[in-house]
Amino acid sequence: MKPFDFKKVIEWLGFVLRCPICGHKYNLDKTEVIESEQNEPMGEAHILIHSDCSKCKSSVMFNVDIKGPEVFSVGMVTDLTRGDSSKFKNKTPITPNEVIGIHKALKKFNGDFVSTFAKK
Ligand SMILES: [Zn+2]
Repeated sequence: MKPFDFKKVIEWLGFVLRCPICGHKYNLDKTEVIESEQNEPMGEAHILIHSDCSKCKSSVMFNVDIKGPEVFSVGMVTDLTRGDSSKFKNKTPITPNEVIGIHKALKKFNGDFVSTFAKK
C-alpha cells in the first residue's frame, strides 16, 4: 500500500465537493487540512478539512474517512472560521455548569457591553 497523497485527495475533494448552501464549487485555495491521521498498513486515513465558500462566504468542515477503496465524507456547515477551527479543536467541550453560568449572567445582564468588557 502506497502512503496517501493528501494533496491528491484534496484535489479530488475540491473537484467533487460543492457548497451545501449555494452549490458553488470549492476553491482549493480556500481549503485547508486541519487534521489528518493515517494508518498505512491498514490503508486507512482520516482527514478533517475546513473550507470557505468564495461565493456565499459560508464555512464547511468535511470529515473524510478513507478505508481502502472506500471513501466516506460527511460535511457540516459551521460558523467557525479557519482560525477558529484550529483554535478550538483541542479545547474541552462546554460543561452544563458553564451553560447555566452564562444563562445566569445573561439574566442579570443590562445590555451594556462596553462597561462589561471594559478593563476594570
Ligand atoms: Zn456557498
